[in-house]
Amino acid sequence: MTAVGEEMHALVERMYPLCRSITGDGVRATLDIVGEYVPLQVHEVPTGTRVLDWTVPQEWNVRDAYVADPAGRRVVDFAASSLHVLGYSVPVSATMPLSELRGHLHTLPEQPELVPYRTSYYKPEWGFCLAQETLDALPDGEYEVRIDSTLADGHLTYAEHVVPGQVADEVIVSCHVCHPSLANDNLAGIAVATFLARALAEGTPYYTYRFLFAPGTIGAITWLARNEERIGQVKHGIVLACAGDRGGLTYKRSRRGDAEIDRVMRHVLEASGRPHDIVGFTPYGYDERQFCSPGFDLGVGSLTRTPYAGYPEYHTSADNPDFVAPEAMADTLAVCREAFAVLDRNRRYLNLSPYGEPQLGRRGLYDALGGRSDTKQAQMAMLWVLNLSDGEHDLLDVAERSGLPFDTVAAAADALGAAGLIKA
Ligand code: ZN
Repeated sequence: MTAVGEEMHALVERMYPLCRSITGDGVRATLDIVGEYVPLQVHEVPTGTRVLDWTVPQEWNVRDAYVADPAGRRVVDFAASSLHVLGYSVPVSATMPLSELRGHLHTLPEQPELVPYRTSYYKPEWGFCLAQETLDALPDGEYEVRIDSTLADGHLTYAEHVVPGQVADEVIVSCHVCHPSLANDNLAGIAVATFLARALAEGTPYYTYRFLFAPGTIGAITWLARNEERIGQVKHGIVLACAGDRGGLTYKRSRRGDAEIDRVMRHVLEASGRPHDIVGFTPYGYDERQFCSPGFDLGVGSLTRTPYAGYPEYHTSADNPDFVAPEAMADTLAVCREAFAVLDRNRRYLNLSPYGEPQLGRRGLYDALGGRSDTKQAQMAMLWVLNLSDGEHDLLDVAERSGLPFDTVAAAADALGAAGLIKA
């Protein structure tokens, strides 16, 4: 896990300098990098396309942007960090006094050494983001401001990667790809999703796993709009975000609250002994808002470490690659793998011999336990599976009610199935 943590961190560092937004070449460059790890199907949706209640906006690209002081020195420079330009800034080329420029400068007075992340997607504006202490040091005088950007008809870009399963029913794993130089809030999620896809492809999972790399809100809405007819195939899902900070894990339940993914995540987090929080659904945060909108109401929860807006580095220049830890990303990845292993194996069974206990010894089922170090547990698991296989309870119920490890319960179900005592 250490090695994979380092690999994910290296991926975060590679993607970090790119100027991502909800559209534009920064998203494409990011997807190009992800595409080196897992093959991607990239979709380009034209500006003006109606998607649910929204419209795909114009595409934004920026080549250069700076504020130069009266001596001609660049005191705010896009080349140093993509955070310095207000996202979706319209182009500007002007000279103005500091007093006038101030109206276009965004700072964090409470965190004077940090640069904020700001956007203006749907209102035409231009602006710069900088540290309060940088602003405080600026002398009065005439400043040159230049943003060499374009806002023009183009495309919204998103990508999918599918790990084929044994059945067409799908699990979606979604992460946002629209934040510029912010490591925990988007890049760590992208990195964990990428390595999760690679890990799942090592075998053939039961479900088909569909990974979505899309800009927040408008990207998820675009995907939903273009997949309305096959949305019934989506049985479960997770929105991954803030996947790399050093805090404990937080799972936010789906809108349903008791979807299978909600039960699986709670079981895995509790059984693993990891420090964690489980919180109820709110119609805010990341793209669980879209997947759990009432018309879709999908069984999609959200996995983060420290949740949305829950840390002082959130949406600032302090959310840099140092803020995310290889071991934290490796831990997030491990939890996802554990959860999907349970989800993939969870079934409901019917006891075919429900009147009295069937004779296990006669069927060689006790002998099958002989070599196991957990013989007693394995035997109890068989009795529990037989007892709760009434078509109502699934293996996760059995594990929860018996207090036995899910793997032991699943192994018991396999043995009982092979002996013809239960059927899925
Ligand atoms: Zn964010």
